[in-house]
Amino acid sequence: MSTIRIALAGIGKIARDQHIPTIAASDRFELVAAVTRHEPPEGVPGFTTVAEMMAAVPDIHAISICTPPRGRLALIEEALAHGLDVMIEKPPAGTIAEAARFQPLAEAAGKVLHATWHSREAAGVEPAREWLKGKTIQKVICNWKEDVRVWHPGQEWIWEPGIGVFDPGINALSVLTAILPAPLELQSAELRVPENRAAPIAADLAYQMDGKPVAVAFDFDQQGPQSWDIIVQCAEGELQLSMGASQMAVDGKPVDLPDDPEYARLYRHFARLVDARQSDADLTPFRHVADAFLFGTRKQVDAFHW
Ligand code: NAP
Repeated sequence: MSTIRIALAGIGKIARDQHIPTIAASDRFELVAAVTRHEPPEGVPGFTTVAEMMAAVPDIHAISICTPPRGRLALIEEALAHGLDVMIEKPPAGTIAEAARFQPLAEAAGKVLHATWHSREAAGVEPAREWLKGKTIQKVICNWKEDVRVWHPGQEWIWEPGIGVFDPGINALSVLTAILPAPLELQSAELRVPENRAAPIAADLAYQMDGKPVAVAFDFDQQGPQSWDIIVQCAEGELQLSMGASQMAVDGKPVDLPDDPEYARLYRHFARLVDARQSDADLTPFRHVADAFLFGTRKQVDAFHW
């Protein structure tokens, strides 16, 4: 298989924590350039636009976009116009209408789009989906609670409208929509918004799935232990996913799972899509976020300070 020469756009926390080391460890990808307003990764040239990059660096095949979700359309259009296959971080965009344009644009350009959901690559997701097949689900409980100060230190974009606690929350929704056998239907939602911010710091969402309750709680101000847990109570037993679905247990007994990091799996999936000339752009988790904002009641809570 040929090497995929890839560029990264947006050299922030996730590019440095995951994308750069994952590409370095991959035998299919080579990081050859970056689109950045600041410092490129070590040993790689940086450019402020895709056009400048393409003029200077030959034979780039793909770009992985790690900028915040708002404002990606222009970047994606420019990348496709320069013949690049495109991978994007979650959440896909600032609005549903914007996100819905990406795949048709990629198709028209004859290029591959991978709208990623890294949490769907967690080791427990596929085994959980398999285990749940044919089971009688009675109730689902999801608690996704983390400290924004730890995971997004100083990031002001995280408090833009439509984001807040839904930035990690969309990861939970990406897992729930991957493992559950029927669609989620939102029944009610409460969004708790700090008085000095435009986006919620916490949310309680009540869904039904095939008539059964799915209770989802998001918190971005979690002190002490963090929790990224999903429990599915079935007539046949209880499935638990913990640590962002990297661990799984059935009736309290741990299930052996491979130690295969999410981003290694994500890039292997992108390589398969590039080889097959296929796109993967499921917007379902993002639509659920939009529904929560359409449907949810808002409660003002204390101001948030970093
Ligand atoms: P970040 O640390 O703020 O980095 C984003 C980078 O995007 C910036 O460093 C900047 O790179 C570029 N950028 C372009 N326009 C920007 C703007 N208007 N405001 C801020 N930065 C802008 O964010 P991040 O945590 O890496 O998150 C980026 C994406 O990855 C988000 O969609 C997020 O949901 C996703 N993600 C984050 C995490 C995490 O743990 N933080 C985990 C998984 C996924 P240059 O300086 O190079 O221009």
